[in-house]
Amino acid sequence: MIRTKIVATMGPAVSSVDTLLALFQAGCDVCRLNFSHGDLDQHLATLRLIREAAVRFDHPVAVLGDLCGPKIRLGKVADAGGTGGMPIGVGDDLVVQRAPILGANGRVSTIYDHFVDDVQVGDRVLVEDGLLKFVCTDKTYSELKLKCTVGGVLKSAKGINLPHTAVSIPSITDRDWECVDWAVENDLDYLALSFVRRPDDLQQIRQHLANRGSGINLIAKIEKAEAIGVIDAIIDASDGLMVARGDLGVEMDLADVPIIQKDLVRRCQAAGKPVIVATQMLQSMIDQPSPTRAEVSDVANAIWDGTDAVMLSGETSVGKFPVGAVHVMSHVAEKTEQYLQTQPAAAVWGDRRGGGVAGAAAAGPRTMQMSSAVARGVWQVAQDLKVKLVVVWSQTGATARIFSKARFNVPVVALSSDHRALRRMALHYGVVPHEMAPPDSLATLIRQVDRMAQDMKFAAVGDRVVIAAGASLGTPSTMNGIVIHTIGEVSWGAGGAADASLRLEVGKEA
Ligand code: ATP
Ligand code: MG
Ligand code: MG
Repeated sequence: MIRTKIVATMGPAVSSVDTLLALFQAGCDVCRLNFSHGDLDQHLATLRLIREAAVRFDHPVAVLGDLCGPKIRLGKVADAGGTGGMPIGVGDDLVVQRAPILGANGRVSTIYDHFVDDVQVGDRVLVEDGLLKFVCTDKTYSELKLKCTVGGVLKSAKGINLPHTAVSIPSITDRDWECVDWAVENDLDYLALSFVRRPDDLQQIRQHLANRGSGINLIAKIEKAEAIGVIDAIIDASDGLMVARGDLGVEMDLADVPIIQKDLVRRCQAAGKPVIVATQMLQSMIDQPSPTRAEVSDVANAIWDGTDAVMLSGETSVGKFPVGAVHVMSHVAEKTEQYLQTQPAAAVWGDRRGGGVAGAAAAGPRTMQMSSAVARGVWQVAQDLKVKLVVVWSQTGATARIFSKARFNVPVVALSSDHRALRRMALHYGVVPHEMAPPDSLATLIRQVDRMAQDMKFAAVGDRVVIAAGASLGTPSTMNGIVIHTIGEVSWGAGGAADASLRLEVGKEA
């Protein structure tokens, strides 16, 4: 079992139930639908396949919708001679016209109506995370003339960055609002917002979701310098971050990206929120069956930094080896986690484990303070008594999120009867979501955990496990604290099951 979570971008390379099931079995926990590619009908078809495969997988899988945000993209480009698009070389001219056109013969259009208005002669135009580069040499009302300075193949819907141009697109476009409503109607688990600039971008969507009675969690994609300047307020306003290195590496100095990655992961650890490291992690596997050394190091180092999840983009959406890429990630994660577990917690996590859980305790609402305190207590108990498993009742998933940050070196099974909460937990490092009906008493909970731990082979008779449950269990008399239980020592008589377990009361919640 690996603790690092894997996010895989959906696309034509993974468009059957069998492939998706293979992806899940290889270790994919979260499916990403990128609204920038394909239409909503295609995404609905993909979503149905995901749900079908998840039923066969018999384990919660989360779905994350990635909103386009104010990103300018190329329009459709015809495939010239099997190149996948329009090849263009250094020194070649490219015309970008105002009126939409199927790109061909040195002429393209973009999805942004005012592209020709906003770009000025002398501005640089970067395509596909800066892979292809152009400079504007001439303009009329109806079109721009660009000269290519770094060539490649122009492909449909690839992103365009304008590092020196003032663009006038709103943070959340009409297309985004349409996708938000689609996500609500189709019960997605997470929505990622691209190009977040300020906390208000998230609050607008949060308000809209609240009005519609939706509990979709919001992930802020960090890919603009402006966001870095107000990062703590953005973390506060979001349910987690994505380190979107593709655009970040174009919008900022590429050499700043690793530093920003480490800083964002650390801040999320302290805030008790999940974080995803994304873009080009195994990029060469789009075409090759095995990764480069640098890519393997990148995945390992992101885990070392303390990320919850690592993400695959083109590797799974359009790559030749989607399942292979997930296998590679799982394998690297397994090795890295095994090594990290041999290290003293303080050496590996510095003050982050304690700091993270303590940080959430200091800042969060009262229920979070309670969860943080319990997580720290359980962490110490788990260390001292060498328990095999930590079990936490987390009806809404909030406690599971806090426990995830404690970085236990044993699995954390998070129990809930709420399917949405269980799916959201799929993103949290080290958390194994598991469905259970709310028990009517502490004795029942212990009995059910005893059986689950053995059935799922987490622990055998004689092993110790820790069970934590708080007010969210919903039955006030059941428990609010920590139980240390030895597997097999259950009394099946009415009400007597707690006898063999040592119970530590940590306080009652009003
Ligand atoms: P973002 O900036 O949001 O990451 P992106 O253009 O980099 O957008 P990714 O989601 O990273 O896109 O995926 C990598 C590539 O995979 C895309 O550029 C696109 O060519 C392809 N792709 C992704 N999703 C789809 C899809 N649903 N259908 C077809 N191609 C897709
Ligand atoms: Mg991006
Ligand atoms: Mg990308």
